[in-house]
Amino acid sequence: MPSKSIVVIGGGPGGEAAAKRAAALGAEVVLVERANLGGLCLNWGCIPSKVLLEGGRLFHRLRASSSLDGVSSVSLSWEKLQEKKRSIVGNLRSSLEQRLAQLKVRVVRGDARFQNERSLVVTGPEGSRELSFDAAVIATGSRPFFPPPFDRLTDQILDSDRVLSLPRVPQSLVVVGGGAVGLEFACLFQELGTRVTVVEKMAQILPGEEASVARLLRQSFEKRGMAVLTERTVATAEKAPDGWRLTLSGGETLSAEQVLVCVGRRPGLEGLGLEAAGVAVEGGRIAVNEFLQTSQPRLYAVGDVNGLSLLAHAAGAQGAAAVGHVFGEGGSYDPALVPRCLYTWPEVASVGEWSHSAQAKGLDLKAQRFFFQGSAKALADEDTEGLIQILSEKKTGRLLGAQIIGPHATELIHIFSVALKASMTVKDLHGVIFAHPTLAEGVREALAR
Ligand code: FAD
Repeated sequence: MPSKSIVVIGGGPGGEAAAKRAAALGAEVVLVERANLGGLCLNWGCIPSKVLLEGGRLFHRLRASSSLDGVSSVSLSWEKLQEKKRSIVGNLRSSLEQRLAQLKVRVVRGDARFQNERSLVVTGPEGSRELSFDAAVIATGSRPFFPPPFDRLTDQILDSDRVLSLPRVPQSLVVVGGGAVGLEFACLFQELGTRVTVVEKMAQILPGEEASVARLLRQSFEKRGMAVLTERTVATAEKAPDGWRLTLSGGETLSAEQVLVCVGRRPGLEGLGLEAAGVAVEGGRIAVNEFLQTSQPRLYAVGDVNGLSLLAHAAGAQGAAAVGHVFGEGGSYDPALVPRCLYTWPEVASVGEWSHSAQAKGLDLKAQRFFFQGSAKALADEDTEGLIQILSEKKTGRLLGAQIIGPHATELIHIFSVALKASMTVKDLHGVIFAHPTLAEGVREALAR
């Protein structure tokens, strides 16, 4: 039987997962990428930001430690951190290129544009070429969104790309947008000595996250000197000789050397020729069904471009699930199992239901908590800020979700991802033996209450 031909557009986490799974299933795979393999995640998103954040976190831990002498003389080199970032990103990109070559995925450089539902044209450095396919996966990601007054200032303000390569740490910074991306940069620069102000439109930072967790995070930031202004938008922004003057919706004025705008992203649809392929767009995103199929059944859309979840691991899971569907291999994408992680200090992570989402579904809720102040391991680490909260259905004990704020939250959350995937009850989870002393044993402690 001739093998299926699959074209994947976009080499970010969604496209990478789709291409790898298609190759593993014996398809002839072409991956079209107009910029760098690895997409936003590897080149300008998850990885470079986490390299910088881990530098800041180490600095924070050293300064917070009561048992080290001479720490006041330690300083963090922004230049060295930048070198480390470039080296890690470069190495990961080379590994990805090698892995795709091993899997015989043909990488074609250029911009893809559909001609119809069976073929597209790639225009790149080597001219134009036509590719036909049995199925295609659109994984073209997203682009940053700038509301007024920043829409006219996009080449002057900082966005999440530009801030990664700032030549030096600014003295003062206004971060517009208190979501995950804005808060990670706010936390990093605050630690590096910048005077940081966060401006968030909604009533809480990390909108959508558990309110009590967002409150604890805000308190932690404010204790360290960060200014957090909620229920405000920026009305005007003017360039001044020493930086920026901003007026807020509440009438306050702010001055800062730099302004970073992180208020969200929009699916990247431009130039794809979706109409020619018969792909429906709804509300600015490619509409998909539960199998990630677009309105044109042989075309799939995964990752940021379908707007379901702007997370790298969601994109990867969708890419693998879409290709599984092409081959009738199963392996569906379950949005309820996508963990959400924030790499600030303290870290924040959650999976499954929050209190507000469970209550909106009319579920009878039980919340059990453990505070890291009671953890021997957290005390030894001098990192006791935060808590684990576990949500279950009162009557059945069915696990519904969990939220963690505190040390290693982004690792610990996977205990709950596994438990949710396995449809465990809180009794099942309480029966797990956790090593002592660990942060993870807080899960058992929470359930003992
Ligand atoms: P992308 O990674 O955006 O890849 C799309 C690719 O398609 C790009 O390489 C692009 O060049 C290519 N492309 C687009 N159009 C065409 C075309 N017509 N022809 C050819 N190629 C095309 N997520 C997390 O889960 N964890 C994190 O810690 C995290 N940190 C982040 C930090 C920052 C600063 C930012 C901005 C984002 C972060 N994200 C994080 C989000 C994450 O990066 C994205 O959700 C993820 O990259 C989306 O993957 P994707 O495959 O959908 O698209």
